[in-house]
Amino acid sequence: MAAPFVDTAKITVRSGNGGNGVVSFHREKYVANGGPDGGDGGRGGNVVVTIDDHMSTLMDFRYKRKYVAKNGMDGGGKRCTGKDGEDLILQVPRGTIIRDAETNEIIHDMADEKPFVLCKGGKGGWGNQHFATPTRQVPRFAKAGMPGESREVVLELKLLADVGLVGFPNVGKSTLLSVVSRAQPKIANYHFTTLFPNLGVVYVEEGVSFVMADIPGIIEGAAQGAGLGHDFLRHIDRCRLLIHVVDVSGSEGRDPVEDFETINAELAGWSPELAQRKMIVVANKMDIMTDPELLERLRAHVESKGMELFELSAAAHQGTRELVKKAAQELAQLPPVTVYEATYVERPPEVDTTGEVDIQVYDDTWVIEAPWLQRLIANVNFGDYESRNWFDRQLRESGLFDKLEAMGIKDGDIVSLYDLEFEYQR
Ligand code: GDP
Ligand code: MG
Repeated sequence: MAAPFVDTAKITVRSGNGGNGVVSFHREKYVANGGPDGGDGGRGGNVVVTIDDHMSTLMDFRYKRKYVAKNGMDGGGKRCTGKDGEDLILQVPRGTIIRDAETNEIIHDMADEKPFVLCKGGKGGWGNQHFATPTRQVPRFAKAGMPGESREVVLELKLLADVGLVGFPNVGKSTLLSVVSRAQPKIANYHFTTLFPNLGVVYVEEGVSFVMADIPGIIEGAAQGAGLGHDFLRHIDRCRLLIHVVDVSGSEGRDPVEDFETINAELAGWSPELAQRKMIVVANKMDIMTDPELLERLRAHVESKGMELFELSAAAHQGTRELVKKAAQELAQLPPVTVYEATYVERPPEVDTTGEVDIQVYDDTWVIEAPWLQRLIANVNFGDYESRNWFDRQLRESGLFDKLEAMGIKDGDIVSLYDLEFEYQR
């Protein structure tokens, strides 16, 4: 059995942790008491999503579900900054929609070439070189790197094509695509040959071209999830124009009018919008037509619905030029391909602030570390008033300041939280 076509995948992605800053002091012969020279940790790698136009499925994501970028390296002495973690590049087919797995909100629609940063790597921690001040000449502390982010997302492929070919299996869709573009889809005289969508660029004339998608044959009951058909229908969601290919040769004993209506019912079953989509109807395999009556019945039927019937022999290259021109004319009148706006709303995370804290006192500096503090800080946008307030509230409610008071913190002492330092005020 052929592997089922996959166009959704749930994956977990994680950006790299930032490397730790280090404590180190300059050492040189004959020089006493060198200054602090501990370098910073490197940034953790991002998870970046890019488009690969050679891909037309999300198949790869079925076998590998977890994607982790590299961590940043720790800093070194002599102000050596640790190496940044390598970004993890996730290549997806054009038209892949990234959703939050929990809420299903759209995070991003991969419609253009711009790389999308899905998870930012954690910042590297500062080495002690940064913490020397006139009153603190021997900073004996450095900062840990910030953790990367982890998120679960669903990838959903909705191809970005101007024209979608629809019709029963074996009617000549793949043949048509191969004739009008450079795409080389599999063509064979049996049903369900096309297991993956194929895309081809159709050049019409200087400066005019469009993308055509050959979608695996729709079969009856597809909209209800029968057989292969269901998942493929989502691919035509975004096509601006449909070319409905009907076999009028009678060679398989099929009735063109019935076929035409069956497919239309499938489209409508999937989405009422799709049923309204602009459509060109094509009578294919004219070269081996045995009963002209079939053609005429289809023509009368199609015309009665206010549509035009186009005669074609894809295999014999007859009528293909005209069809391409006709499609280009229609497309010029139609709105551009839909690109989905992000609906995902960033929310402050629920951070459990009751966890352990590690408090170290160096002279007048209180260095505080805790996993929950990292999570808190990683989610503050210090340029944003609301966000700063949220942070302040969380800190206060955590009871951290009460703890510091109990340990004897004084006004004017320095509170040092990762890359954040401020003077303590009661
Ligand atoms: P699809 O399943 O709709 O993609 O159909 P294919 O393009 O794979 O074609 C199915 C069979 O019909 C192949 O054997 C093709 O060579 C044949 N075919 C396609 N178009 C024509 C045509 O215009 N005339 C004739 N005689 N055969 C055709
Ligand atoms: Mg095919």
